[in-house]
Amino acid sequence: MTDVTFVSRPSPNFDDRGRAVDMIVLHYTGMKSAEEALRRLCDPAARVSCHYLVDEDGTIYALAPEGKRAWHAGVGAWKGETDINARSIGVEIVNPGHEWGYRKFPARQIDMVIALIKDIKTRHGVPATRVLGHSDVAPQRKEDPGELFPWGKLAAEGLAVGRYAGDEDPSISYQDALAMLRAIGYDAPDNAHAAALVAFQRRFCPKALAQGFSPLTKAAFKWAATAMA
Ligand SMILES: [Zn+2]
Repeated sequence: MTDVTFVSRPSPNFDDRGRAVDMIVLHYTGMKSAEEALRRLCDPAARVSCHYLVDEDGTIYALAPEGKRAWHAGVGAWKGETDINARSIGVEIVNPGHEWGYRKFPARQIDMVIALIKDIKTRHGVPATRVLGHSDVAPQRKEDPGELFPWGKLAAEGLAVGRYAGDEDPSISYQDALAMLRAIGYDAPDNAHAAALVAFQRRFCPKALAQGFSPLTKAAFKWAATAMA
C-alpha cells in the first residue's frame, strides 16, 4: 500500500458536522493551477474548502480536519439526503476542468487519490456505493470530476462502483428508466431531470454522453440500480 503523507495547508472554511461521515465526494478544481485553487479554498471570503486536494504530481494537501464540515458540495442531494457536506469528506483533484482545458488525470495523481481513499476508509466506514462525484450530488450545477475521471481504476481496488460495460437494452420504458435513475440516488425532478441524466452518463456510461434516454443509457441504469443499491 502506498504511504500517504500530507502537506498541511489549513483552510479556515469549515464548521461542525454534527454527524458521522458516510460519503466521499470527488471534485476537480476547475481552475488554471493548483496554487490558484489552494488560495481560493483557503480564502475566508470565498467560503469554500475541502478536506484534501490532490495535485497532478500526487502531492496531497490537507485543508480541513476530517471531523469538521468542509464547504465543498454546496446545494445538492443524494438518495433524498440534502446536507452533503455534513456527511462527506471532500477531495479536490487538480484539473483545469471543462472551462479551462479538461484533460486526462495523470496516473500518479490517480494512484494517490486511490491511496487517499484507502486511508480515509481506515477511519470511516464509507462503502464503495458512497464514493461519488460532485456532479452526482449536484447535477443541475456541476460537471466534475467529469467523464475523463477513471472510476474503473477505483472500482478495481473495490473503492467505488465502476462504469457500465454491457450491451444496449431497448426494452426498458421511459418511465421505468426515470424510476431507476432516481433509485440510483439522483435528484431528478419531473420537469428537470435532464441534468441528472447527463450526470449519470458522465459517471457510469460516458459512451452515451448527451444521447438522451438511449438504449445503452437504459441498460446502464438497470445495471447501476443494482450496483449502487
Ligand atoms: Zn466540485
